[in-house]
Amino acid sequence: MTMGIAEGQTAEGGCLCGAIRYTVTGSELFTSQCCCKDCQKATGTGHTTIVGLRRAQLELRGEPKTYTNDGDTGGKVTRHFCGNCGGRLFTTGDLPGDEMAILQAGSLDDPNIVSPESVIYVKDAPKWDFFDPALPQFEAMQPRER
Ligand SMILES: [Zn+2]
Ligand SMILES: [Zn+2]
Repeated sequence: MTMGIAEGQTAEGGCLCGAIRYTVTGSELFTSQCCCKDCQKATGTGHTTIVGLRRAQLELRGEPKTYTNDGDTGGKVTRHFCGNCGGRLFTTGDLPGDEMAILQAGSLDDPNIVSPESVIYVKDAPKWDFFDPALPQFEAMQPRER
């Protein structure tokens, strides 16, 4: 059911105004619906759809603005967004060994190339938000092997 970006293939994306564009190369690691409080505040929505990548998979054209705060599981979390239109692009962490870039699925030119496999931080989800009942739900972070 999960389609995803095929190995060796690329996907394009960018912000609303087009000042920042990117290319993703290769398969994503995961796609989830994240309901954490920080995602709600950062996006102004009930949840955000995130696509896990290795940083090396993401090639940027343009210079995003950043905002850094403390993450839920220790370490700093930095959100990268367009300083012109405010469009959210991706998130990175500073923990040792963390080479992830967590992309905002809606910034992809074709968001249908990915499909969520889980819902995370459901403890924070607003009552009015709705999720595919077929997806596994996790109170906080989904346990993963890296
Ligand atoms: Zn922009
Ligand atoms: Zn979140």
